[in-house]
Amino acid sequence: MPKARIVVVEDEPAIRRGVSDALRLTGYEVTEAPDGAVGLVEASAGGIDLVLLDLLLPRRDGLEVLAELRKVHPTRPVIILTARGGEEDRVRGLKMGADDYVVKPFSAKELLARVEAVLRRTMKAAPTIVAVKIGKGTVDLQRREIRWSAQERTDLSETEAAVLKYLIENRERAVPREELLGRVWGIGTAGLETRAVDMHVARLRAKLKDPTGDDHGEAIVTVRATGYMAGPGLTIKEG
Ligand code: CA
Repeated sequence: MPKARIVVVEDEPAIRRGVSDALRLTGYEVTEAPDGAVGLVEASAGGIDLVLLDLLLPRRDGLEVLAELRKVHPTRPVIILTARGGEEDRVRGLKMGADDYVVKPFSAKELLARVEAVLRRTMKAAPTIVAVKIGKGTVDLQRREIRWSAQERTDLSETEAAVLKYLIENRERAVPREELLGRVWGIGTAGLETRAVDMHVARLRAKLKDPTGDDHGEAIVTVRATGYMAGPGLTIKEG
């Protein structure tokens, strides 16, 4: 099983740290969020396998975070962390699609058991991408090239391949420019502008046309006011 990436949304610093440390010690990759607003951003990011979500949170309530998250990731696993007596919220959370809940105070052992159980159910089901094609061309992200025929191929830069890979991995949704900046360039958005993303996508689009100039109905689609999305020109085979 690949290393799972978990987001911990919890405003109580001691609990957040305790939970995060326990998860890291077990080998998970953890992102911490101290309130609902940050939590929603982190929980919505690409490549997240599980969200641990407190319900009473500053800035945005946990159930609100869950509702928003469900709009972009209908099946992303969520375990609710609730206070004793919060039965009503717990039930609402489960009805909104949370996978499980843990009642505070909980032991690290109990939490880890729940985390493991949810991941065992959900990670196995995640399909892996076995091939990506554009018309007759084959996209090889490892080698960073597109092979059109035995003679013809197009090389992709490291950044272009990373952008394409990220869009393919998140093909079920539109990816905001800011997210691409953060995830592909691996830095905060402060120094770089989203224009840089547009520039790279433009270059990538040109390369995604086969030798006859056909992009087979758009390999990368622009989503107005948001960003980009893997388009119908890409045929993605899962196995
Ligand atoms: Ca709280």
